[in-house]
Amino acid sequence: MRLVLLGPPGAGKGSVAALLKKNFSVVHISTGDLLRDEIKEGSPLGKEAKSYIDNGNLVPDEVVIKLIENKIKTDDQIKNGYLFDGFPRTKNQAKGLDEILEKIGKPIEAVFYMETAADLILMRLTGRRICRDCGAVYHIHRHPPKKEGVCDQCSGTDLYQRSDDKEETIKNRLDVYLENTLPIVDYYEAKGILNKIDGGLESEELEAIIAKTCHAS
Ligand code: AMP
Repeated sequence: MRLVLLGPPGAGKGSVAALLKKNFSVVHISTGDLLRDEIKEGSPLGKEAKSYIDNGNLVPDEVVIKLIENKIKTDDQIKNGYLFDGFPRTKNQAKGLDEILEKIGKPIEAVFYMETAADLILMRLTGRRICRDCGAVYHIHRHPPKKEGVCDQCSGTDLYQRSDDKEETIKNRLDVYLENTLPIVDYYEAKGILNKIDGGLESEELEAIIAKTCHAS
């Protein structure tokens, strides 16, 4: 399974990726997660990336491509299957990724484009809360933890809101998405590997559709 999940912020890419990772043992590569790790570590790359992320803007292509190149070089499991989530986000990144994957002889098999309505995105992202300790994701209305403020999975008590999940930043992230990322849909359609799926469905339904499509091809 060698996939890219494409879609606006709040389409549910991370949730679907977590299910696919669990069921198919693919390497899940999220540039958002990699960048947040760099910020947590206080690395020079993290320091550079922080202001872009906090404002809902894209981190420069060369920084993100380098990050992905390093990940692909150092993770041997990638050859057995991968799942990109939140990358690529520009045409430049898409071309860069193709070149890197060509070098290891493992090109993308399919891209799943999760089309999602703007009001649903806003509702999902403003209500999203994440466990600081284990990364489990909740929604204040749709998927609250069993005990308020306490993570079901690790009993952590710091369920925080991402700084870029505030309403104003979300609006900018959507504009950035429409301008920079949406054109990639055409790029992959021209390559004949694009599949459109409904980002309004539940993660379990989407995971089943993706798994079925991949097995059928
Ligand atoms: P995500 O967790 O995928 O929603 O990403 C959070 C933020 O990280 C984005 O709003 C961007 O600021 C940055 N980011 C993540 N992936 C990329 C990427 N492929 N290119 C540029 N910036 C990115």
